[in-house]
Amino acid sequence: NDDVLRCVGCGAPIQTKDPNKLGYIPKSAYEKNKQSGKFYCQRCFRLRHYSQIAPVSLTSDDFLKLLNQIQNTDALVVCMVDIFDFNGSLIPGINRFAGNNPVMLVGNKSDLLPKSFKLSKLEDWMRQQANLAGIRPVDVELVSAKTDQQVDHLLEKIDQYRHGRDVYVVGVTNVGKSTLINQIIRDNTGMRELITTSRFPGTTLDQIKIPLSDGHHLIDTPGIIHNTQITHYLKGNDLKVAAPKKRIKPREYQLNPGQTIFMGGLGRFDYLKGRDKCPVTVYVYNKLLVHRTKLSNADEFYKRHVGELLTPPSHKYIKDFPPLIHHQFKTTYRSDLVIAGLGWITIPANIVIDGWAPKGVAVMIRRAMI
Ligand code: GDP
Repeated sequence: NDDVLRCVGCGAPIQTKDPNKLGYIPKSAYEKNKQSGKFYCQRCFRLRHYSQIAPVSLTSDDFLKLLNQIQNTDALVVCMVDIFDFNGSLIPGINRFAGNNPVMLVGNKSDLLPKSFKLSKLEDWMRQQANLAGIRPVDVELVSAKTDQQVDHLLEKIDQYRHGRDVYVVGVTNVGKSTLINQIIRDNTGMRELITTSRFPGTTLDQIKIPLSDGHHLIDTPGIIHNTQITHYLKGNDLKVAAPKKRIKPREYQLNPGQTIFMGGLGRFDYLKGRDKCPVTVYVYNKLLVHRTKLSNADEFYKRHVGELLTPPSHKYIKDFPPLIHHQFKTTYRSDLVIAGLGWITIPANIVIDGWAPKGVAVMIRRAMI
């Protein structure tokens, strides 16, 4: 019956009678939203509301307390990262917080990766990167929470590795944790009970508990703000560059030493030493202007065009925008120069480059993803 009003979040038919059944919405909320015809059931409403109040600072005492509590539990820890910002979204010290509990590493937003990327190779790469960060995940998975790719598979894997225990889902803000949790709820119409929110003992932070079939729970912990991410320095519409919606189109250039590439006003790549016609590939938000110019002229160019040709930052935000700071690297193997949250540039071995990012934003070099 197509006339039935459905919850925008989970698709359950909206009803105002039984708070313990799917699709429940209080009468008052029903009246309020009748006009728009858009309803979130109470469960999904809480979930959305929760995700808005959740972000806390990475150094928040409560958050550290919360993470530390996980090691005293017997659980599977699912650590979510954003594949578009792998290194910037990995929680530092996660293996310590997990204690002896197994950690499963989940890379989200696989839908953003170019079609040519082989997912199995990427999972190997993720494992290798995790090892470098001191994490030995029991399993590595790539999903797209938004387009519901591999989410079912992920749930099977979670069920396999949890061995009848609770599951804690952890991740920094913006990795797509709420999107995944919402997707899980949508996919599991069998999950009839209400989702509950409760406090972590001894903290002011809320957790959300989704009942699993055997009396255990999937526990969504609050997102943590990681202040080395570029999102931390962006406002309003400018934030779009850090959360691309479409598959990234690689942009290829052949550079000679002495050339610079600007990525909007947020990043800059100077090719200092190496061969002529050096192939580099830029992976950033498709609509971000990538502009090639002469290195000798680059400082002046930035000064003149930031907030105009080179945006973000939009003109109205440049006053508070941190200056670009450079970090020099020499590659010994095919590498990615990463600007946390903005994207990366794949470059060959044996070249010397400067990577520039707003002061405070992490710039690093890693083994090339592909
Ligand atoms: P949270 O802070 O970890 O709860 O993250 P959200 O679920 O709020 O998602 C953060 C941003 O990433 C939003 O703009 C989402 O639309 C986007 N996002 C989440 N999952 C995906 C995904 O699988 N693919 C893409 N492209 N974007 C996603």
